[in-house]
Amino acid sequence: MTVIYNFSAGPAVLPKEVLQQAAAEMLDWHGSGMSVMEMSHRGAEFMSIMDAAQQDLRDLLAIPANYKILFLQGGGLGENAIVPMNLMGLRPDATIDFVHTGSWSGKSIKEAQKYAKVNVAASAAENGFTSVPARDSWKLTADAAYVHLCTNETIDGVEYHFVPDVAADTNGAPIVADMSSHILSREIDVSRYGVIFGGAQKNIGPAGLTIAIVRDDLLGQALPCCPSAFDWKIVAENGSMYNTPPTYAIYIAGLVFQWLKRQGGVAAMEQKNIAKATLLYDYLDSTDFYENRVEKAYRSRMNVPFYLKDETLNASFLAAAKERGLLQLKGHKSVGGMRASIYNAMPFEGVQALVHFMQEFAQASHK
Ligand code: PMP
Repeated sequence: MTVIYNFSAGPAVLPKEVLQQAAAEMLDWHGSGMSVMEMSHRGAEFMSIMDAAQQDLRDLLAIPANYKILFLQGGGLGENAIVPMNLMGLRPDATIDFVHTGSWSGKSIKEAQKYAKVNVAASAAENGFTSVPARDSWKLTADAAYVHLCTNETIDGVEYHFVPDVAADTNGAPIVADMSSHILSREIDVSRYGVIFGGAQKNIGPAGLTIAIVRDDLLGQALPCCPSAFDWKIVAENGSMYNTPPTYAIYIAGLVFQWLKRQGGVAAMEQKNIAKATLLYDYLDSTDFYENRVEKAYRSRMNVPFYLKDETLNASFLAAAKERGLLQLKGHKSVGGMRASIYNAMPFEGVQALVHFMQEFAQASHK
């Protein structure tokens, strides 16, 4: 039987062990006589799932005590509105600084303009979003409300491999980071950020769960228009139970957190992710049949866009890949080409199988 490797950008591959455990527990969770889907979110059973998931995430990212972990709905795009609605209440006339590094930060900029003044401090549009603009080129606002970054651009394949220091230029503005597509893939120093957010459906679990990690002093600054269910202070005070949270998605995310701990945690995962990304980029750089256009210093370890030099072969590449069990390699429609998303749950063997296939396809096409 063909082994399947799923390179989707999200919703994306989950660890097989997690899916097996969820299947085994589907009809009767731990002798409760119920599926997790059927439980009251306020019952003792689900509360234990929720508490464990939050604690495991705190452990995995070493989240300091002065940050709240919020389990929300609304996804990454929802947060593009929810973030300004939560942070602009005290200084509604202040400016939000953005660094435009690709599609997702671009969408964030557009959405924030509905709620506040926006300054694009730097943009990589000119080079086709193939880098993060150098920090010394950023034109930050002297008293910005906050600085918004997308630290991994899922479509463009551009990743920050550094945490910029913005406080000196912005009078201490916090950094808000959209980490949807690389959270838990590498060690981070949470204390360098004011807010970290992300949809779960790439590196964590099923769609429907959105995670926000918010520093305590940033709670209680919401605009009056902010819906209560998205007001971080209200959500925090209610332990992410102000409204009904996405219970099943939280349960699966919790299983993924336990799986991550068994893998050795985020530090061990980061080493595996470096090995996978290196294997794929080294191959891409060694051939003139394919190309990745991102500057080496900013290449994403999670999302690897690449192009066949002869784009007339795209359809046959995808068909042959599918036949080999290598699924969902088509690039985002806005940029074309191919994209291999190699999140935590993608084993090294999956990337090996992809590179092997790409070599064979190139050879066969050269004949
Ligand atoms: N930000 C990033 C970095 C993303 O990759 C995505 C989804 N691909 C989003 C935001 C939007 O997420 P959602 O579809 O959950 O709204």
